[in-house]
Amino acid sequence: MRLLGIFLSLLLCCSHEENDVGERAKPVSDFTNVAKTVPSIFGMWKITPDIKLCPNSPVDRNRMLEAVRFWELLGYSFGSVIVNDTSSSCFTHGSPVYTITVEMNNSSFDEAHAGQTELYYDSETREILGARIYMKSSMMELERVLEHELGHALGWRHFNRSEHIMHGNHTRGGNNTFGLSNEIHSAIMSSFEKISKNNHEPDMIFYKCDL
Ligand SMILES: [Zn+2]
Repeated sequence: MRLLGIFLSLLLCCSHEENDVGERAKPVSDFTNVAKTVPSIFGMWKITPDIKLCPNSPVDRNRMLEAVRFWELLGYSFGSVIVNDTSSSCFTHGSPVYTITVEMNNSSFDEAHAGQTELYYDSETREILGARIYMKSSMMELERVLEHELGHALGWRHFNRSEHIMHGNHTRGGNNTFGLSNEIHSAIMSSFEKISKNNHEPDMIFYKCDL
């Protein structure tokens, strides 16, 4: 498997709409520009990822389990939730291989950012290889932020329908989970794999929301 140094950064911020900027190479395919009537995905896990709360994680185990439960009810599976992880996953850059990490970032976020997720993937298969969730310490108690970021770690992009969990603007989002079930995710991904065989894929995409 070719592991490319790739990351996708999804920022949750105070924009009115999600804007995808910095998209390198040509657009992935029409698949990624599907009319925003349904949520869209970027990739999928082929293994069940563990979740590692790094020593500086602003999220504790109970809060993490709440977010895990949110997605389990939609059909997703996770491995262990490991607290105060001291493996290399938390202390290196790049992909935390086959793992989702949760880390604190107070320094490089501006005031408008609640969270950020980096998604590492295989550019040919779109298999998700690892994800890093960054949050400010002040965001731990704010409802929905962690669930939203975990949605990115599962491959979901922003979906700017009012009250939706994957809305790119927290204040306009909500707990609506329209279109996010694991069953739908798998169906979208299988159609995507057919498309990807006939299209050249860029190896890196960077998404950012307007402030
Ligand atoms: Zn987001």
